[in-house]
Amino acid sequence: MYCDSDRTGMTVGTLKRAFLDNLHYIQGKDAYFATAYDYYMALAYTVRDRLVHRRIKTAQAYYEKDAKMVYYLSAEFLIGRLLLNNLINVGLYEQAKQAMADFGLDLTELMDREAEPGLGNGGLGRLAACFLDSLATLEIPAIGYGIRYEFGIFEQQISGGWQQEVPDNWLRFGNPWEIARPDYNVEVKFGGHTEAFTDAQGRYRVRWIAETTVFGTPYDTPVAGYKNNTVNTLRLWSARAGEDFNLQVFNAGDYTQAVANKTFSENISKVLYPADQTLQGKELRLRQQYFFVACSLQDIIRLYLRNHSTFEAFPDKAAIQLNDTHPSIGVAELMRLLIDEHQLNWDVAWDITQRTFAYTNHTLLSEALERWSVDLFGRLLPRHLEIIYEINYRFLNEIRLRYPGNTARLARMSLVEEGNGKQIRMAHLACVGSHTVNGVAELHTDLIKQELLRDFYEMYPEKFQNKTNGITPRRWLLLSNPQLATLITETLGSEHWVTHLDELQQLETQIENPTFQARWQAIKQSNKERLAEYIWRNNQIEVDPYSLFDVQIKRIHEYKRQHLCVLHIITLYEQIKANPAIDIQPRTFIFGGKAAPGYFMAKTIIKLINSVAEMVNHDPDVAGRIKVVFLNNYSVSLGEMAYPAADLSEQVSTAGKEASGTGNMKFALNGALTIGTLDGANVEIRQEAGPENFFLFGLTAQEVMSLKAEGYNPYDYYLSNPMLKKVIDSLISDYFNPREPGIFQPIVNSLLYHDEYMLLADYQSYVDCQAKAAAAFRDKTHWTKMSILNVARMGKFSSDRTIWEYCQDIWRVEPLSITLDVPQAPSPLTARV
Ligand SMILES: *Cc1c(COP(=O)(O)O)cnc(C)c1O
Repeated sequence: MYCDSDRTGMTVGTLKRAFLDNLHYIQGKDAYFATAYDYYMALAYTVRDRLVHRRIKTAQAYYEKDAKMVYYLSAEFLIGRLLLNNLINVGLYEQAKQAMADFGLDLTELMDREAEPGLGNGGLGRLAACFLDSLATLEIPAIGYGIRYEFGIFEQQISGGWQQEVPDNWLRFGNPWEIARPDYNVEVKFGGHTEAFTDAQGRYRVRWIAETTVFGTPYDTPVAGYKNNTVNTLRLWSARAGEDFNLQVFNAGDYTQAVANKTFSENISKVLYPADQTLQGKELRLRQQYFFVACSLQDIIRLYLRNHSTFEAFPDKAAIQLNDTHPSIGVAELMRLLIDEHQLNWDVAWDITQRTFAYTNHTLLSEALERWSVDLFGRLLPRHLEIIYEINYRFLNEIRLRYPGNTARLARMSLVEEGNGKQIRMAHLACVGSHTVNGVAELHTDLIKQELLRDFYEMYPEKFQNKTNGITPRRWLLLSNPQLATLITETLGSEHWVTHLDELQQLETQIENPTFQARWQAIKQSNKERLAEYIWRNNQIEVDPYSLFDVQIKRIHEYKRQHLCVLHIITLYEQIKANPAIDIQPRTFIFGGKAAPGYFMAKTIIKLINSVAEMVNHDPDVAGRIKVVFLNNYSVSLGEMAYPAADLSEQVSTAGKEASGTGNMKFALNGALTIGTLDGANVEIRQEAGPENFFLFGLTAQEVMSLKAEGYNPYDYYLSNPMLKKVIDSLISDYFNPREPGIFQPIVNSLLYHDEYMLLADYQSYVDCQAKAAAAFRDKTHWTKMSILNVARMGKFSSDRTIWEYCQDIWRVEPLSITLDVPQAPSPLTARV
């Protein structure tokens, strides 16, 4: 029967047959020769078949209903491993576990064979992945578009305390989840020049005579909604040289040169840029951005034209979201396609473009704001530069009409930054070309309106919205913390909360229940023990699983202030050294995070953590009461283990610098209490959890700005705070690095003489707050109640809520349910049989 075929059936028996079949015919192995990797692949293909079936039904429904689609354009998708996620979402986990057990195989071991797709740097890429999960779960017609990097974020190893980068060859053993679609290949042009001409109808036209062309091949990864039948697509583009690559050189006999050129084209999708929150104005980066945007827009237009013959309805059928400015060249590219390729006039094309795009801003840091030199831009994308100049010309005229004589405003708002070396301001292009601009937390959106894009907000206040980020409860609770998920399901009586996270509120009824409290504590304890074992295996450091697990995992960046936590650790250490008998709460400080390979200060902070760890972990005076651990190679998988094991979540960025943060949400949803500043979504987490269940410290964003304006002098704090002085002096004296003197001087100099991120201003407040957290941890019952309340009140931070808001307020799209049972209309092939 159709419903129980080997490729779609959901029973243990069918899964076992399908698994053996795939092992035999896809892996070409039997039980004598199969390795754990073969078993992983056979199971992955078995799961993929179930997804493909749903994917086809989903695509059919979108096409037949001519549904409005969301196209989420993002240079990064940090999706994490897929086997367990897919098993859970498609409702096959228990059966698969049983099927494998029947074969004497351990499902967990097979899952460990999966290479992690690290196609992102951090929060921005992970947000895109959470959004895909929520889009599919909410049954929203959507496609995610990005780049199929051959090498993802580097693997981080630690050697002598320093970070070493190792290339991440994640595709080495193949990827069972993706399906290549060479039949949807598209061509992308680069370089050359433009020519104006008058066409047969007497219209002014421009043609772009490119210097090179590259092909984009789409690779589709299915994205399953949670226990519905929706399977959307993540479509990632891989660069290919054309079939007839450089034929002229080839014919001239220089075969090797021709093949070398082929490699040059294919370099476009070779590697993810590993810098987070900084811009390197590199040509290859701009090539990558234009490449995936040009591929995606051609694909979007191809899909639209299957159901339409004019572009009139385009904005009613396509909502394109720009995840940061990385895809913002799309504004100029859509204008080019509509005008040069489809012969629309400027005003019509501009109206369509503005009604199609929306832009999400992700940062207030000026070093992360994308600007491309006009030189580079003109060389690579000459036609786009012309179009951007024309957009700017018309935009500046609009400003002149609204604000006559205000030349300062013109200069501030222009898409082109003048000065030595003109630059294109991509955030301004995205802002002008979009109907909506959003920030990712309330505070962040306020700062966009009041500071970053103030002029734009004054001119178009209706364009600006807030969409506070969220995380998917499927991966970040159900998958990563199965014991807690089970307790919640038992307590609430159903697993409805998995898609309606607000229902966690009902946990509050259990807050005084001692049995419930005990189970809550036992689950946290078991998660801590699991992490402790990992630390032992990975770092050969023995940590006390009953100590307070104080965790800071995120990209290493000065604005995130990992070094503020180090100052606190040294403070405790100094207290112990001054009085070894001191009664101190035992703590395990756990750090993890990658530094951009070219970010010297961030790499030095990693070394500092490891140097302090070396000293503190082995000092007999400390007697094991404080341990410091740096976990190498922070990734989605490592996060899945670390977030559920944390007691205290470190969210200590300088107020006004972290747009939202999502790590903060993952910790709180897994029962950690937060110590944090009023920054990003911390503000809303504190609001939801209740201020009494949150450890708040530090300057506010307003205070940071005022203090800067008054003239901040960090050295005064150093001189007037004896403990702070002692701590900094220990760095100056090379106490933690006797064999490598001077290595921390750059950190010291930065703190004493610049301190852009105001660590010294926040130091005392942080140390005091940490003392309160330590004291609170000693009252186990009270701490447990606060932990329960945090979880119960995190419903708002489901990415389902975030995505629903985007659907209602920005995209104007509706859910479309997929049914599998309805007999299929015979396809031409079936009909022939
Ligand atoms: C959630 C997540 C992040 C973002 O963490 P922040 O603390 O918000 O910076 C980065 N990397 C990975 C792997 C994540 O899962």
